[in-house]
Amino acid sequence: MPARPEVAVDAVDAAAYTVPTEVPEADGTLSWDSTTLVTASVRAGPVTGFGYTYANPACVPLIRDTLGGVVTGIDALDVPYGWTQMQHAIRNLGRPGLVSCAMSAVDTAWWDAAAQLLGLPLVSLLGRARAEVPVYGSGGFTAYDDRQLTGQLHQWMSLSVPRIKIKIGESWGTRVGRDLRRVALTRETVSSDVELYVDANGGYGAGQAIRVGQRLAEWDVRWYEEPVSSDDLVGLRQVRDAVPADVAAGEYGYDLVYFGRMVDAVDCLQIDVTRCGGFTEWRRAAAVAAAHNLEISGHCAPSLTVPAAAATPNFRHLEWFADHDRIERMLFDGVPDPAGGAAHPDLSIPGHGLHLRAADAQPYRVA
Ligand SMILES: [Mg+2]
Repeated sequence: MPARPEVAVDAVDAAAYTVPTEVPEADGTLSWDSTTLVTASVRAGPVTGFGYTYANPACVPLIRDTLGGVVTGIDALDVPYGWTQMQHAIRNLGRPGLVSCAMSAVDTAWWDAAAQLLGLPLVSLLGRARAEVPVYGSGGFTAYDDRQLTGQLHQWMSLSVPRIKIKIGESWGTRVGRDLRRVALTRETVSSDVELYVDANGGYGAGQAIRVGQRLAEWDVRWYEEPVSSDDLVGLRQVRDAVPADVAAGEYGYDLVYFGRMVDAVDCLQIDVTRCGGFTEWRRAAAVAAAHNLEISGHCAPSLTVPAAAATPNFRHLEWFADHDRIERMLFDGVPDPAGGAAHPDLSIPGHGLHLRAADAQPYRVA
């Protein structure tokens, strides 16, 4: 057996980049004109791992000072041990939200560093469970006009992505007529064999969500994401039991206890590797879902999610979110390709293979 490398974490650093969207974007309950990427680096001997989250620049001092101070000096292969030390250290700050995003960035960078030290692709260190990662094209913002919507749908089809999701629940569920017209337009635009998904981002009340969900069957909608607030577990269960589409939620899951509650309310559990606590917590959340006979679906941050997804047996599909896809192609080397409807982890290089192109990112740096 090769000797175990005796390397400790030497340094942790972070930065934040705010990238304007090309056009205004909105879903059912939020609108935005920029997206902030927070990156983390974990240096250990000869390697530097790269991780990230989509959050607020306030994560930068959390990563650099609070979490960096905790993990520096720990054996670089003992990621779950270091993760537990981070969890203990942030007790009085509170785990959900920005703190968990910061932990996710450090954890994903650290796993990348560990894989590089061992000379292994990250997916091989995590343990590969599948050859490819099915993806779905995600965008269809409520702020789009019909021409923008159909233009994006044609882009997904030109890539032969066989699953497409659009946003509904516009203006907190007050524009159901337009929601349904956009679903109908989407079904008219895409091939009949494309699976159609919708995401209301918690914009409806339970009764309204059930009425909309029954209409969605007219267009063979298979996936109904956050029909009501993901905090309304009773409402999610009511919708799940009343509509033919699968009800999904979980993107605001920042700790394992949250996922343990959510599995009783959904047909498929969503996990965001850049929020949940990184690859370490992703694996445990996926196991919670498996214990309830559920598959999981990856939420956003497509490039970083591919190796986690490829290491997950009970995995359904990964959200190829148009907003993040654009940023990751703008700023990263090594992004996977969703063409054909599936992405593949890079098995040819150690780590996950993603690198920030510093010169391209610098104009957007905010912290
Ligand atoms: Mg969503």
